[in-house]
Amino acid sequence: MTKKHEIIELPYDYDALEPYIDEETMRIHHDKHHQGYADKFNKAIENNPETAEKEPEELLKDWNLVPKEIMKKVRNFGGGYVNHNFFWTVLKKDMEFKGEIAEAIKEKFGSFEKFKEEFSAAAATVFGSGWAWLVLNEKGELEIMQTKNQDSPLSYNKTPLLTIDVWEHAYYLKYQNKRKEFIDKFFNIINWEKVNEYYLKAKQ
Ligand code: MN
Repeated sequence: MTKKHEIIELPYDYDALEPYIDEETMRIHHDKHHQGYADKFNKAIENNPETAEKEPEELLKDWNLVPKEIMKKVRNFGGGYVNHNFFWTVLKKDMEFKGEIAEAIKEKFGSFEKFKEEFSAAAATVFGSGWAWLVLNEKGELEIMQTKNQDSPLSYNKTPLLTIDVWEHAYYLKYQNKRKEFIDKFFNIINWEKVNEYYLKAKQ
């Protein structure tokens, strides 16, 4: 019996991130786009019980677990499924920049403002569709990176701590072509408590 992977429910209401991310965008993004990735991912693995048994994150970490003929689908749809499950959890309004992660960011980047600059630049310069990330790398250091399409940092031996989706579907209804404005507003909805939790776990 193969396991069906379900997208997480939003840990808040669809309108909880207003005015930074509008309710309609959240509904379409979560219920249609994210669900679409999950459906296609489930379909891709349904005839491969061994693959379907594994956690999706495990597959993204180790391509040896994935049969060649479905590798591209797992990369795109499995990546989309996992990335969005993670993305929803790092969003929340009115959170304070604090905790061990805040100290680590200040130490690594110099200040919050410097971090914001670097993260924003990474997000702004993803060409086409993709994501910008704050990760803990294989050396246990903080790092900012980009991924294309639905690629996951897990495939590069890095642990996600924070991310911004810069696919147009993430912001186009409200911001149209103004990706930079969306990125700027994004800093109002970072759930630093959650990012701190991911940081502490990744460091173990
Ligand atoms: Mn998306």
